Amino acid sequence: MTAVKELTVVKDVTCPFCGVTCDDLEVHVDNGKIVVVKNACVLGKDTFLHHHEGLATPRIDGKPASIDECIEVAADILVKAKYPLIYGLDSTELHAHRKAIELAEILGANIDHTSSVCHAPSLQAVQTVGLPSCTVGEVKNRADLVIFWGCNPAEAHPRHPTRYSVTAKGMFTPMGKKDRKVIHVDVRRTPTSRMADTFIQIKPHSDYEVFSTLTALVNGHDLDVPEVGGVPLGEWRDLVELMKGAKFGILYWGMGLTMTRGKYHNIVSLVRLIQEMNRFTKFLGAPLRGHGNVVGMAQVLTWQTGYPFAVNMSRGYPRFNPGEFSVADLLGRGEIDAAFIIAADAVGNFPAKAAEHLKSIPLIAVDPKESETTKVAKVVIPVAQAAVAAPGVAYRMDHIPLPMKKVVDSPYPSDRELLDRLIARVLEKRKDGQSGRKRVAGRPRG
Ligand code: SF4
Repeated sequence: MTAVKELTVVKDVTCPFCGVTCDDLEVHVDNGKIVVVKNACVLGKDTFLHHHEGLATPRIDGKPASIDECIEVAADILVKAKYPLIYGLDSTELHAHRKAIELAEILGANIDHTSSVCHAPSLQAVQTVGLPSCTVGEVKNRADLVIFWGCNPAEAHPRHPTRYSVTAKGMFTPMGKKDRKVIHVDVRRTPTSRMADTFIQIKPHSDYEVFSTLTALVNGHDLDVPEVGGVPLGEWRDLVELMKGAKFGILYWGMGLTMTRGKYHNIVSLVRLIQEMNRFTKFLGAPLRGHGNVVGMAQVLTWQTGYPFAVNMSRGYPRFNPGEFSVADLLGRGEIDAAFIIAADAVGNFPAKAAEHLKSIPLIAVDPKESETTKVAKVVIPVAQAAVAAPGVAYRMDHIPLPMKKVVDSPYPSDRELLDRLIARVLEKRKDGQSGRKRVAGRPRG
């Protein structure tokens, strides 16, 4: 950090907005206000330049309160709850993840995060069948074939194509785009199609049968059908030849596969195709992950419990059962009797039924900014925004951990500090015998 009069220039800043986790930003701070952000895309620039807008204020039942008072009431709610939920955690950092898991264990709570409603099928598939994968650096340096399937990085991950996957120049791809072929497969054209050499438009919900077809073709079987997924078989044969002819291929997929018919099965069939391709050439795959540090939360939860999402601690040890312990199902069935939402806007993003249940129970919202969740929460606890006003570590979408810097001050604690203080109060209340529930050998029912 170098100071020039009032202006502070912070280099190598990590952007917390999306899973590309660009770590080359330069941020200029003038008297505590961010005035210039260099190297970021428009989404990253907005994150820093507007971080001070719409900040949350500490309050209980809509009335102003101190942070200590908020922690006191939040601890009371959580200790008395019979079946609490801890949810969110995409827009924060690894130490806060660890603390949130510790809190869940102390409370015997359910803990889930935003992957549960986006790439959970990818996480399940990878735990089931594995995944040959690589870093984005390897893609930049080596990939001569890049396939984007059911995703739109041109809009959702704006610097991914320029830093790593389309125009990026690497050791064995010195000409950038001229050294690689880019294919886009999706149900409709998007700005990503314009970056691609070839766009293949498939019928909605046909991904599973297309991956099965490609795997059959890769293994030398021919099929007696004119088309698959609305695309002539000849085009799939051409794609297979292109894939086999590549020196280093990568297939990136998005929510066009995880949130359409087939879900988990789509990803398993995609991984099997990639595994088969490695009998012929180097071929890899990776999900294009969205929100900031959503990969980090899955990583930390997996180190700590063995499971990547939808974990229940009510028996004193972790249990994993999507459909039973995943956030949408818990809320949809109305089982949760208190919720601690941190670093995510659950009410603003969930289906109406789940959001209605959240509004009907004691809700604690921990967020730097006002959101649909803070608007209806009983307790609102503002925090310093990770990667802007609090340091930490985040995982990039290829599972590489990167340090996040603090570039401005905040009057509020970081997520980690807040969780530390909350855990201390919960433990004290437990000692005082204020708990409304005991751990039982079964799922407690409200
Ligand atoms: S691509 Fe993503 S991580 Fe990079 S600057 Fe844009 S929003 Fe931030």
